[in-house]
Amino acid sequence: MIFGAPDPENQAMRPNQRVQKVSLSTTLALDARAKELASQGRDVINMAVGEPDFNAPEAVQSAAVAAVRGGKVRYTPAEGTASLRKAIAQHLTDTHGVAFTPAEVTVCHSAKHALSGACLTLIEPGDEVLVLLPAWVSYVEIIRFAGGVPVEVPPRADLGPDLARLAAAVTKKTKGILINSPCNPSGYVMTAAEVRALSELAEQHDLWIVSDEIYRRLVYEGEPNASPVQVSERIRARTVIIDGASKAFAMTGYRIGFCAGPKDVVAGVAKLHSQLTGCPNLVSQQAYEAALLSEPREVAEMCAQFDRRRRVIVAGLQKMGLETPWPRGAFYAFPRVQSFLDARGSGGFCEDLLEEQNLAVVPGNAFGVDDSIRLSYATSLETIERALERLAAFLARRRSPTKAGR
Ligand code: PMP
Ligand code: GLU
Repeated sequence: MIFGAPDPENQAMRPNQRVQKVSLSTTLALDARAKELASQGRDVINMAVGEPDFNAPEAVQSAAVAAVRGGKVRYTPAEGTASLRKAIAQHLTDTHGVAFTPAEVTVCHSAKHALSGACLTLIEPGDEVLVLLPAWVSYVEIIRFAGGVPVEVPPRADLGPDLARLAAAVTKKTKGILINSPCNPSGYVMTAAEVRALSELAEQHDLWIVSDEIYRRLVYEGEPNASPVQVSERIRARTVIIDGASKAFAMTGYRIGFCAGPKDVVAGVAKLHSQLTGCPNLVSQQAYEAALLSEPREVAEMCAQFDRRRRVIVAGLQKMGLETPWPRGAFYAFPRVQSFLDARGSGGFCEDLLEEQNLAVVPGNAFGVDDSIRLSYATSLETIERALERLAAFLARRRSPTKAGR
């Protein structure tokens, strides 16, 4: 673990209460644990972290090298370079069919940084923010750290948004809704009708919407990903889009993303970041710009590979008898394992799976849904096949506990 118990000898240097209350990102902690075990010589299969296993496209790599070699890697404006903001605005205009200007874009170090910037800019202490379960690990923590109160709304059986429950969760203190389609961890892609209904609810109660669209390009059933900004000008005026290069262009380590929305809000994020982080890394800004301007062919190939892997993994899980909602986007499968859980829930299940079968996956409780586990299929087909064998062996031992000596 990165953080142990505070040193009792050194009270003065304890992290403050707000930081003590933050839990370490489960996905990143599990990824680190799997890598640590692998470095000790264990044959670990790591399906814990969600990051493409592809290299960034050639155009991205060349632009990064050229930026470094060009020598002028200096500070940029806090909101990002004018040329990248222009490229992002143009890209949003083209993909969403709604005109964006550079003034409506702030470049950030990552989508996570854009999300935390937007939450810190929008949330007043005590504001309630609706979060649709299952929800990516960082949402609840970021909202709390920003002083808000996350209100978790359970999903329908197919893991889509339960609009009746969402409406029932609105109170006088509700200030916003955080949505994520395609969803990490379920792969659920909201329909245009769901996005419209949810947006209308936001309008009716005067709520802002933060729309995390980081998996927007990774959809496999031919339908484009719907965004609240497409519903109407009025909805667009209350929506902040979060996106970045990590998933779409296999650029996780470059750490680059953006938020786009009403000028006051994105300018607020830039002002905040001017004090907290200065400006986004220029090498990554130039690499991201190259990706957006060139639309590299490698991206389509990456999507096709994810689609193939998706079919293999879901079929394998279903063959084991695990009910697995069909993921139409992102690169995760989220099967139900409730009949295999003991009192330690999905956390205990994943610990045992790692211990007994050297297979790292993420417990559903990290996403607010304890009956499931998340497997990232951003890994080779051959690895997926081996992982499925290990999971099947693990479940077989759980089905007949005497064999396992439990
Ligand atoms: N949102 C979601 C739903 C994610 O899965 C991730 C994954 N890291 C992020 C945001 C953040 O992406 P990044 O910080 O790498 O840009
Ligand atoms: N978003 C990825 C995941 O869910 C990367 C890890 C993280 O940032 O939490 O695995």
